[in-house]
Amino acid sequence: MIVGAGIIGLATAFRLARRGHAVTLFDPEPASGATYAAAGMIAPTAEIAPGEEENYRFQRGAIDAWREMASEIEAVTRRRVAIVQTGTLIVGWDASDRRLIDQFRSVATEFGAPMRDATRDGEPELFEGLTARISEGLVMAEDGWLDPDEAVSCLMEANEALGVRLVRERVRLAGASHDGVEVETESGRTLADYGVVTTGANGLPDGLTVPKSPTVRPVRGVTVRVRSLDRSALPTVRAYVRGRAFYMVSRPGGYCVLGATAEEKSQPLVEVGELQRLLRDGLDIVPELEAAPLLEIRNGLRPATTDLRPFFVALEERGWSWSSGHYRHGVTLAPLAALDALSAIKPS
Ligand SMILES: Cc1cc2nc3c(=O)[nH]c(=O)nc-3n(C[C@H](O)[C@H](O)[C@H](O)COP(=O)(O)OP(=O)(O)OC[C@H]3O[C@@H](n4cnc5c(N)ncnc54)[C@H](O)[C@@H]3O)c2cc1C
Repeated sequence: MIVGAGIIGLATAFRLARRGHAVTLFDPEPASGATYAAAGMIAPTAEIAPGEEENYRFQRGAIDAWREMASEIEAVTRRRVAIVQTGTLIVGWDASDRRLIDQFRSVATEFGAPMRDATRDGEPELFEGLTARISEGLVMAEDGWLDPDEAVSCLMEANEALGVRLVRERVRLAGASHDGVEVETESGRTLADYGVVTTGANGLPDGLTVPKSPTVRPVRGVTVRVRSLDRSALPTVRAYVRGRAFYMVSRPGGYCVLGATAEEKSQPLVEVGELQRLLRDGLDIVPELEAAPLLEIRNGLRPATTDLRPFFVALEERGWSWSSGHYRHGVTLAPLAALDALSAIKPS
């Protein structure tokens, strides 16, 4: 059984079911957490940060891992999750933001990451829609994105086709049973051989012992969806603006995801100030957002660990594992996280 149907729980359920396991998945509201807010970037290079070389190396396999899982999903549903690899363009708003790009360049060079400089004069199309004051940037061609709403919908359909039982109830108590694991929900007790907790930033259900390490804390993020320019065939725009990070992921038809705030806060809400900063940064980088129809504002809690690494650990209670800590990379890492469960749980 799996507790939590965000992108990690859905991908884990899919891979276990494909391997022949009978899977029950519990979630009162599937994909309503961080997965709902995510922009869906699979951007190992643009996500490079000092001290996160191991994360970078791990994530470099993510696009291929997603393509493989998309083929597996297609084999079950005849629907394919689109994985778009148009790269990332990083730009800076002012001189100090451009210095941040220089720092980024030196860390990325140290990691051996592929990238190149680009100028508006040399490649004007790359700068389409960006403010005229930006005339240079860094291109990382290997990065890509998917639409998390599409990925969730395909995974839900594939899981149903594979016989995964989705119970739309919250697990209020979990523990070890006589010869396996058990959970308690509104409709009663459910028993299974193994249990995996994939509740993102929500932590463990009552009854399971929280280990001393790793620990998970929530980092709130907001994304705004608007109808604006269609840059879907061009690199995703990322920018440093007055020291803050901004991005715009543009999908076909001009559905654009603007993101994202990062607040060390656990309340699932949107503060006016954080929204104002995000939109102001966006307007400075992409002036035509001024007239863009606002479609939706979403927020979610990223599950972060102290060392910013994801984990799959066995819990003290026999038969239980915990898969979390995917922080700002859970969509990227979902197919790889699901492999952890495959190697830990053997078919009975
Ligand atoms: C604003 C924002 C933008 C992001 N952008 C990106 C991006 O571009 N690329 C990327 O790779 N990552 C991105 N991320 C990170 C990514 O969204 C997360 O790492 C990922 O969604 C975590 O997935 P999860 O399944 O662990 O958790 P969640 O998606 O939070 O899912 C947890 C699920 O568990 C359920 N649950 C909780 N408690 C219980 C219980 N007791 N019983 C049953 N169910 C329970 C919840 O209802 C929820 O559906 C972003 C995150 C945010 C917030």
